Amino acid sequence: MDAHRPDKPIRNAPGLTVLVAAYNEADALPLLQPRLAAVLDDLARDGLASRVLYVDDGSRDATWSVLQSMADADPRVAVLRLSRNFGKEAALTAGLDHVGDDAVLILDADGQDPPELIPEFVARWREGFDDVHGTRLAREGETWLKRATAHAFYRVIGRLSRTPVPADTGDFRLLSPRAVAALRQLRERNRFMKGLFGWVGFRQVSVPYHRAPRAAGTSKFNFWKLWNFAIEGITGFSTAPLRVATYVGLVTALLAFLYAAWIIVKAVAWGDPVAGWPTMMAVILFLGGVQLIALGTIGEYLGRLYEEAKQRPLYLVDAWRPATGVSSAQA
Ligand code: UDP
Ligand code: MG
Repeated sequence: MDAHRPDKPIRNAPGLTVLVAAYNEADALPLLQPRLAAVLDDLARDGLASRVLYVDDGSRDATWSVLQSMADADPRVAVLRLSRNFGKEAALTAGLDHVGDDAVLILDADGQDPPELIPEFVARWREGFDDVHGTRLAREGETWLKRATAHAFYRVIGRLSRTPVPADTGDFRLLSPRAVAALRQLRERNRFMKGLFGWVGFRQVSVPYHRAPRAAGTSKFNFWKLWNFAIEGITGFSTAPLRVATYVGLVTALLAFLYAAWIIVKAVAWGDPVAGWPTMMAVILFLGGVQLIALGTIGEYLGRLYEEAKQRPLYLVDAWRPATGVSSAQA
């Protein structure tokens, strides 16, 4: 009903901002921007005002000047530069803080998430979904080791986390304005975005897609980074490791008790000839190892608590240049 009232101009309808975090992507961005521009044109024909926001995550290559000239050429392009490399999750957070009341579509700069799918995401959003996420059917151009570890990671986090973390789903997703507003309230330092999206809830739907190989440049994530990312995700969304430590402790204590009983029985029945140096060493080393693992687990959580307690900002902005125009139906 409301939509037909002349005093409700269409401009007040939420627009769409495509959010791209870019770190050393000078080679990939010129390939992505024309594809995105074409999609924005299509969306405009459908009456959806849309823009692009590129966040330069402290790149050390020509990314920033490439972005500047893209913003010069197209008024729909907004650019934000962080003071240094804060990591993809912080860059996305910075972007989300700068999109106003728009819906947001998050896209990788390397062309692995096809921009041509955006209209499909928008269609699901218009059906009333708040979180439309792309689920990868195939991962081309990635080694089997990366595929296998990614697979294992999603299974582990899926079981441990109390809020859903859909498998094989990255950051390629569309968030409705209210989902973006909700996400903005989560200011934790441990920014495991995939988990945060799930925590927000609302109506979610997945769109299967084929993940293309990188268009240019190299992956910014090596195995060590991914491993830390996985620990971040697990500790941020589950306290199960702490409970595992408790159970390991309980089981060890039970075994120790049984073994102690056996030693006493043996000493009483057959005397105590003071042997058993190997068993003693084995037990000491085993207990030491178990204790160190439990301490390390506690330390992981304690360290995160420390990070939170400092309450530092999640990112610092170096430069911000908003879009001067949107692609609207009239344009
Ligand atoms: N990225 C970022 N900051 C970083 C690392 C990566 O903004 O510190 C961006 C990167 O430019 C790309 C996206 O995050 O747009 C995904 O990175 P990449 O393609 O290297 O990851 P992969 O697809 O290999 O997991
Ligand atoms: Mg990539």
